Amino acid sequence: MYLFLIVPLLCNPNSYSHFRQKMVETQIVKRGIKDTLVLSAMRKVERHLFVPERLREMAYTDRPLPIGYNQTISQPYIVALMTELVNISKDDKILEIGTGSGYQAAVLAEIVKEVYTIEILEPLAQSAERKLKELGYENIFVRYGDGYKGWKEKAPFDGIIVTCAPETIPEELIRELKIGGRMVIPVGDYFQELIVVTKTEEGIKKKSIIPVRFVPMVH
Ligand code: SAH
Repeated sequence: MYLFLIVPLLCNPNSYSHFRQKMVETQIVKRGIKDTLVLSAMRKVERHLFVPERLREMAYTDRPLPIGYNQTISQPYIVALMTELVNISKDDKILEIGTGSGYQAAVLAEIVKEVYTIEILEPLAQSAERKLKELGYENIFVRYGDGYKGWKEKAPFDGIIVTCAPETIPEELIRELKIGGRMVIPVGDYFQELIVVTKTEEGIKKKSIIPVRFVPMVH
C-alpha cells in the first residue's frame, strides 16, 4: 500500500534525482562515456549538494558552476571523462589535486577504495571535508596544502586526477604514480589540453585528449 505513496515521489519529474538521471543520459552517455562504474557513480552522487544553495537549480546543467573564492566545480561531462580516463578499479588508491567542492572526490569514492584529495584554499578544504563527512564518506581524506608537493606518506597512487591546470606536469606527481598508473591532468595557461600520462618502466607516455579550461594550479 505504501507504494502508492512512494512511487509518485520517486517519479516526480521535478526532483533532483530526475534531473540527475537526465544529465547522465543526455550529457554523458550521449558523448560516449561507457564505463558502467563511472556512469553509476554519476547517477548516484547528488551534485546539487556540492554547489552553493542559490545555484542548486542549475546543478545538473551542462556547465561548470562557481563555488566561491573564484573557483568552479567542473562540468559534469568533464568529471565523468576524467574519471573514465584514469581507468580505476575498486581496490585502487587515488590522489586528486584540487578538492574544490568535493564533488569529484565523491564520484571517485563511489568506485575506489581510498581517495586522497588536496586543496590549497583552506575554507574550501574545510567545507568539502565537512560535507563529505556529513554524506557519510569514510574513504575520502582531505588535506589543506599544496598539490605540487603531492602526498608522499600515502604514495604511490594507482591513479591521479588533477582538477586545476599547471603549466607543466609536476615532477612530484609523476614520482607518486605507480608504474602502470595513469594521471589525468589539464596542462597549459590560457590554452590547456587534457593529457593522460601513463607511467611505464621506461618513463612516461603522454596522450592529448581534448582542449579544456580549468582554473590555474597555483604555487
Ligand atoms: N575537483 C573540484 C573542482 C576544483 S576547481 C570539484 O569537484 O569541485 C580547482 C581547485 O584547485 C580549486 O579549488 C583551487 O583552489 C585548487 N587548487 C589550485 N591550485 C592548487 C594547488 N597547488 N594545490 C591544491 N589545490 C589547488
